[in-house]
Amino acid sequence: MTDVRERERVLELLREHGELTDEAVRKVAERTGVSEADVWGAGSFYSMLRGSGETVRVCNGLSCRLAGSDELASRLRAEGQEVQETGCLGQCDRAPAALNGELEVFSGGAERGRAVTPDDVELPINLAGRPDDSGSAFAKARAMGAEAVMDAVEQSQLRGRGGAGFPAHTKWRAVADRTEPERYVVCNADEGEPGTFKDREVMLRRSDLVLEGLAIAAEAVGARAVYVYVRGEFRDERASFERELSRASYLGDVQVEVVSGHGAYICGEETALLEALEGRRGMPGMKPPFPTESGFRASPTLVHNVETIACIPSIIQRGGDWFRGKGRTGSGTKLYCISGHVALPGVFELPLGATLEELVEQAGGYDGTPMAFCPGGASSGFLPISESRRPLDFEHLAEVGSMLGSAGVVVLNDTVDMAEAARWQTAFFEDEGCGQCAPCRIGTRYLRRAVDGYLRTGEPSGLDRVDDVAWELEEASICGLGMVAGKPLTSA
Ligand code: SF4
Repeated sequence: MTDVRERERVLELLREHGELTDEAVRKVAERTGVSEADVWGAGSFYSMLRGSGETVRVCNGLSCRLAGSDELASRLRAEGQEVQETGCLGQCDRAPAALNGELEVFSGGAERGRAVTPDDVELPINLAGRPDDSGSAFAKARAMGAEAVMDAVEQSQLRGRGGAGFPAHTKWRAVADRTEPERYVVCNADEGEPGTFKDREVMLRRSDLVLEGLAIAAEAVGARAVYVYVRGEFRDERASFERELSRASYLGDVQVEVVSGHGAYICGEETALLEALEGRRGMPGMKPPFPTESGFRASPTLVHNVETIACIPSIIQRGGDWFRGKGRTGSGTKLYCISGHVALPGVFELPLGATLEELVEQAGGYDGTPMAFCPGGASSGFLPISESRRPLDFEHLAEVGSMLGSAGVVVLNDTVDMAEAARWQTAFFEDEGCGQCAPCRIGTRYLRRAVDGYLRTGEPSGLDRVDDVAWELEEASICGLGMVAGKPLTSA
């Protein structure tokens, strides 16, 4: 029988070989005891394990498309470069973006400054603030005890910032109440939703908050091991976190391990992420069981996104009520990303419930005449610009069939063909689906072909079944990717 720790090393060992070849697979199989077929199966799932070290990956996420990524890819090919077009690279503020084999991001357009909210100690995350390595929130949490810490999280009414918006304290208590002695905390730093680059900035600027939040969570739920799964493309972000880890002297017996992803958007889904952490294909699982019951290594696992966990130190230091009061129509502040047709794309920490108009003001105004926007990444579909004064929160966006999601806001001006934009987003879901369930695998292809036909002929009758197919996707898919994949087209 294969040792589980060896199995978990399969993807990392393949990465060390640089390219997925027969030779690499044979060596990894010999070393780990995992069958060659299984090693191939796992490795071939991840885009970063498929290309050679010479491949340049050009982002074809929405913001990069708007900024001319197709032209960038053509130009690089004409220069003799090996090019792989890929889903969002999380560099929407530097669009059109590309990544070379050394994981250096380069922008095909003008290099933009990384815009964030100015330094303000009244902000729970405060991206421009000074990192604090003292561990004072961790020490306070220890003194408070686990129950009081979870009470503070409950009072804060913090909801997950990764997309699903699940109440944080419910997850914490679900893990803390389990009887199994082995439990884990996992940080989801595998940001990949088109339009979203906020976790990137938190990892770069405030890794201190992420690490301290994780340590507090581990202590409260009784976990001794923390895993941080960082998007494979986030080289500098991983380095920033590891620097923080080497400086932190307060962790005691909490062990923190950093693991790199290998290029698969679907691994942002928590059960898929846990599969990847165990060295397998990143296939989402049916729920229940939820990770809080049976997660990493089949043990209770608390999974939180980077931004969610970064809110914890300020909740402990200043109280749940303080954090809750920072919001407007929901609790706390929110990191909103904005890109596309605005003057200064960036990440801005605003009260939860801020509007597009307020966000655009931070971003220096619109570029051209605005027509539509995605309020929360590709999963949220499109809204007309007439909704620009609607609060960007969980409830107000649900009222119009959209969602806050990852708060990756992308603005489209009136030069954009909405059918084309819907096609880009639909193709993204088709490419990024894991393929295990028929509604998603077949449905996303059907939707993309339907819009292709419309773009080719201008004939709307080919779209007649789009609503039905989108409904089937929503009702019958295993995971959130399939459930939302019809939204860009139906909303456009
Ligand atoms: Fe995979 Fe799509 Fe099914 Fe999700 S909905 S499990 S991505 S095939």
